[in-house]
Amino acid sequence: MANSKSVDWQFSGSEAAKEASGASLGTYSSKLFALCGAVMLLHHYATLSESQSCHLEANPPETSHTAEKAVVKAVLCGTGNAYAPNDVFMTVGCKQAIELSVDILAKTGANVLLPKPGFPWDVVRSIYKNLEVRKYDFHPRKNYEIDLDSVREMADENTFAIFIINPHNPNGNTYSETHLKQLAELARELGIMVVSDEVFRWTVFGSNPFVPMGKFSSIVPVVTLGGISKGWSVPGWRTGWVALHDLDGVFRSTKVFSAAKEFLEINSKPPTVIQAAIPQILENTPKDFFDRRQGFLKHKVDFAYSKLKEISALTCYMKPEACTFLWTKLNISFFGDIKDDEDFCEKLATEENLVLLPGIAFAQRNWARHSIDMETPTLEDAFERLKTFCERHSFIDEANSLQDVN
Ligand SMILES: *Cc1c(COP(=O)(O)O)cnc(C)c1O
Repeated sequence: MANSKSVDWQFSGSEAAKEASGASLGTYSSKLFALCGAVMLLHHYATLSESQSCHLEANPPETSHTAEKAVVKAVLCGTGNAYAPNDVFMTVGCKQAIELSVDILAKTGANVLLPKPGFPWDVVRSIYKNLEVRKYDFHPRKNYEIDLDSVREMADENTFAIFIINPHNPNGNTYSETHLKQLAELARELGIMVVSDEVFRWTVFGSNPFVPMGKFSSIVPVVTLGGISKGWSVPGWRTGWVALHDLDGVFRSTKVFSAAKEFLEINSKPPTVIQAAIPQILENTPKDFFDRRQGFLKHKVDFAYSKLKEISALTCYMKPEACTFLWTKLNISFFGDIKDDEDFCEKLATEENLVLLPGIAFAQRNWARHSIDMETPTLEDAFERLKTFCERHSFIDEANSLQDVN
């Protein structure tokens, strides 16, 4: 097994929240609770759920130890993953997990590698923290694998992490075990950590199984981000997590672990009622729930993909095997009067009452994201409108009609 000793890791925990966290109430209360006996605490907090009172022994009451333990199990369960995370922190949705990962690593002059396209919250947070963002590419014709050469080229001594999304929103693929291992080895060579956003791991319906990045945490330090928003369709419940897969204690020696604690000390916690439900949700959701959901999505993807074949202005390189979208390239030269993806989406909304998100929202010009998570008649109607719209704006049609006039 590889170890971290020979690697000069290029990341360390930010101290930006250190002083502020020292002024928080939690700093004082957790110290005092740690001095108390468990019996007294259980008595004192008899009205709270067991999950919360257990945790009072060592921590402030806002996060649930039982929830964290359930997350450890959930992160661990995956195709042959033997590496449980060393530490788990509950967060306000996966979004706060992204914020935490960016904030605790942000340093002046540092840069981070982010996916293009990708769910943009990491970009948003990096801009806010004045980080330089470098966007790596994919191979659309190779199952949307990461272009590892582009990663190697853009990393330098100021790069601290590569963020990946698996299953990927919006590409709709899951990464193979071989590919993730190559990525882990490259990250190790570059001295950077891998932050893996796995919020869509329960929404997989293709033939490629989901492989957690944590499986490679003997090669490289890994931070796994997750949550219940997508798998259980409950984004409003605002509950997610960050899991640290440490390699030889490197997250502790580089102060990443303490920076995470300090960040959470000065930020809001996820709702306690949902945290209390997390063990039930993660451990006891019947398999049938996921089977039905995945079957539903697979059916919608097949249907939408076949409808898309009738529209030559849009190209979908890969039928999605996960998530709830089609990701398509707009052939702008097909249109007579549409200048780019934003123009396309605005005209489509105005004329057809149909909303697609422009690629630029995911950092890729002239692409579009279509949601497929709806009943077939609605989907059929949407694709009819899309087709009519594309035909109406087609350059070729316009040329033909001009010819007719002449
Ligand atoms: C939706 C989404 C998130 C945000 O999840 P919340 O739990 O709702 O905050 C994060 N990452 C990806 C890739 C997403 O699609």
